[in-house]
Formats: sequence, structure tokens, C-alpha cells
Amino acid sequence: MARRRRMTAILVLSALGIKTAQRIKASLPDATIFGLNGRVEGADVGFSNFGQTIRERYQGGDAIIALCAAGITIRSLAPVLDNKSAEPPVLAVADDGSAVVPLLGGTTGVNVLARQIAQILDVSPAITTSGELRFGTCLLNPPAEYRLKNPEDAKTFIADLLAGKTVRVEGEAPWLRDARLPLDDNGELLIRVTTSDATPQAGELIFQPRAEATINAAASKDVRFAGHKRGRLAVIGLGPGDPDFMIPAVRKELLRAEDILGYESYVRMAGPFRSDQTVHMTDNREEMQRARHAFELAATGRSVTMISSGDPGVFAMAAAVVEALHDSDDPAWHDVELEILPGVSAALAAAGRSGAPLGHDFCILSLSDNLKPWDIIEKRIALAAEADFAMAFYNPISKPRPWQLPRAIDILRQHRSPETPIVLGRDIGRPGESLRVIPLAELTPEQVDMRTVIIVGSSLTRSFDRADGGKWVYTPRWYGTKPEG
Ligand code: SAH
Repeated sequence: MARRRRMTAILVLSALGIKTAQRIKASLPDATIFGLNGRVEGADVGFSNFGQTIRERYQGGDAIIALCAAGITIRSLAPVLDNKSAEPPVLAVADDGSAVVPLLGGTTGVNVLARQIAQILDVSPAITTSGELRFGTCLLNPPAEYRLKNPEDAKTFIADLLAGKTVRVEGEAPWLRDARLPLDDNGELLIRVTTSDATPQAGELIFQPRAEATINAAASKDVRFAGHKRGRLAVIGLGPGDPDFMIPAVRKELLRAEDILGYESYVRMAGPFRSDQTVHMTDNREEMQRARHAFELAATGRSVTMISSGDPGVFAMAAAVVEALHDSDDPAWHDVELEILPGVSAALAAAGRSGAPLGHDFCILSLSDNLKPWDIIEKRIALAAEADFAMAFYNPISKPRPWQLPRAIDILRQHRSPETPIVLGRDIGRPGESLRVIPLAELTPEQVDMRTVIIVGSSLTRSFDRADGGKWVYTPRWYGTKPEG
């Protein structure tokens, strides 16, 4: 398990820049200075390719202070710019420290960071954003002693402010004094600073003072363990990859998360994350151990999100998480607010692309015999084939499991005609997606890898040419003979 806190990366290209970088670092001790090899001495880490380095930092969600021209920074990041709401702060700072220009990350605090650095360098920050980001920054980035309880509502709240609604403030929110918010005692919108565990209403943002939150927590019904806020564990499914296939509840959860756990590739799919979110990339194959780690974190009062691709309950983490809870008699674990949020599973995503091959009864099988004996897999394929289910095969083949898929195909051929439509969906919803429809007679293991889901038709599944050259596949909802009409 590699644990990595989001960091602030200062990228330096010149000898003059390193001086400025060191001045900044003196006040931001957590920052890491990256220096161009051969040009810069005294950096914490060397690099030889600026573009690659800055893109990696950006995609990893690190705040970036680039000591070079804004143009170089923008051009280098252009290929990877996408998700405005989640991108980390990026600033360009002149080599000699004479200018501080916030470039990206308006919703994740770039202007706050720009002001801070400008103060260190004793210059004025070149803040170019008006209302929206000014409100956004002060609302989404309160000082460290406060925490916004419902960041998922901030976007609508800010949009309402921009649309002209006024706001009243209950409680002490000193950092908002300079924000030039449209304050009004009868304001339609409400900003509440409170230590109680209130539930946000529509048009309301709640800020909780952190230190006192802990003391008051014990009395609140949402918190049952002295001194702890109630932790949360959400097991979420990202869907196949395309962000449009992610349910909004999952998107909200990603904003709410304090700790994010998952395989690196899934974490990348879900990111980038803010600098206040901690990502725990895991390469631990032991699911129960990962599940327990998630509970341990959540039981300390943190909001933990565990990421799966597709649906978390389909050959993914949800089952291990629920099992870990069942196995535990730790009351702190049972008090964690546990939620499992579904996603579009690979079979459904591939089915949609090809028509409706799963339009009647179907079953989903994993061909992996890592966690179950091969005998039972063969038996299930044979019985499902005999019962005339359409089927989807996950984990169809891998290097250590070369002979299993050929066996599965043999069994299918004993029960299904050679014309039975087969859908091979690979990397659905991801770059390089491919979809093929072939008859069972032509199915060979070489066409399949771990990133493929195989859909096998029932005896009634049929296919026909589509106008774009591909094929439609469907399994009718009727069985036996086609009804009249
Ligand atoms: N929880 C995931 C499945 C994890 S098992 C889900 O619900 O989709 C991993 C297997 O899922 C892979 O071996 C492959 O068979 C399938 N799979 C996952 N994502 C896929 C995608 N985008 N395209 C095709 N198959 C995929």
C-alpha cells in the first residue's frame, strides 16, 4: 500500500528560479522543489522533461507552482486539461519572483495560494477572476480551522449568488468579511457557521469549526464515540470509464471524500483530486486487508471512499467490505456510515453498445479460478448453457490462466449452435474502446484479454447488419415462438 499525500510541487527551470523557489519553500515547508537536471542545483528532486513532469504532477492532483513563463506551463498542460471542478491549483511565478499568476484551479484554491505566495515574495498577485471564483474560493476554501460540511452544494450556491440572490450569515465567519458577498439579513441563501451537526437545507452552506466540532461531537446524535465525528465509508463504482457513465451520487461522493482508496488506474480515472484529499493507491491484492484498512480509517471519523470500476458489487470491493464488517465486533466499525453506490457494470456497458444481447434472462460469471475452484466454474457454464441463459464472462483470460477460456468455449460449443452471436467488448468507455460481434464458431482465445468482457448469446439471440458496417445484437423478450402482432 503506497500512501501519498497530495503535495505542492515547485518546478524550477533556471538558476535564478531556484532562489525564488527556496524563498517560497521557506514559508511552505511541505512543498517539494523539482529542478531541471543540469541547470538547477539545490532542488529536492531532479527532472529532465518539464512537460512530462508537470503533467504527472497535475494528473496526480498536486498543487503546482511553475517558476517559468505562463505560456510554457499552459502549453505543457493543454493535452491533459479536462475536469475543471477537480483540477489542482496551478500557478506561474516569474523566475525572479516579480509576478505571481494563478492559472488553473479556481475552485480548489489557486487564488488563496497565489495570495499566499505573493505575500511571501512581496508582490501583488495577478488575480484575474471576478465574482464567480472570488465567491468560489472563499466558500470552498475556508481557513484551516473551518470545514465546509456540504461542498457538493457549493456549485449551485455560488451560481445562485452570481444570479443575484443575497445571503445571510449566521455565526462567525471572519474570512468572509473581505469577500464582498451580497449580504442581506433577509437573504434567500444562508451561510451557517455552527458546531452542531446540522443537516444542510436547500440554499444553505454549513461551516464547522474544526477544533470545537470534536468537543461538541460527543453530544450530537450523529457521533457516538467520544471525541469523534462519525466516519463514513462509501464503496463506489465508477462505471466502465467514460465519466458520462458515472452516476451523480458517485460524483458527489468523490467531492466529499477525505481519503480515497483504490487501484492506481481507477484512482486516475476518478481524479484529479484536491490537495486536501489523501489518495491511498493500493497494489494490495488481498481484498479483505484493503477492506479492513478502509474501516480503520473511517472509524477515526474520516470520510473514506473506496473506488471500484464498473459496479462495486460485481467482482469488486463491496462484498469484501461488507464481509469485513460482518467479521468484526469492533463497535467503532459498526458505527461507520457505510454506503455502497452502484455503477454501470462492464457487461451492461458492452451490451448497450451492441444492442440488447442481455434483453432476456442472463447470468454473469467470472472465469477466474483465483477465488473459486475451476470445477464449479465449468459446472456453472454448463448448467447456464443448458438453461439457455445469455451469459457475460468477466476476467476471461490472463497469463497465469491460459487454458480456462478454451475449456469454457468447448463447453459452450456443446450446447450452442456455431452461429450464436458473441460480443467482445474491450476497454468499453475508455480510450481505444473496441467492440466486435462474431459467431461462436469464430471465437478463439487470442481475440480476448483481461480487459475484455465476453457476451454469449442464448439460443434466441440474433444479430443483423447495421448501417455503419457493424452488427446489432439482441435477445428478444419473448421465448419460444415470436408472439403475433
Ligand atoms: N466491477 C467491475 C468488474 C471487475 S472484474 C464491473 O462491474 O465492471 C474485471 C473484469 O471486468 C475484466 O477482466 C473485464 O472482463 C471486465 N471489464 C471491466 N471493465 C471493462 C471495460 N471497460 N470494458 C470491457 N470489460 C471490462
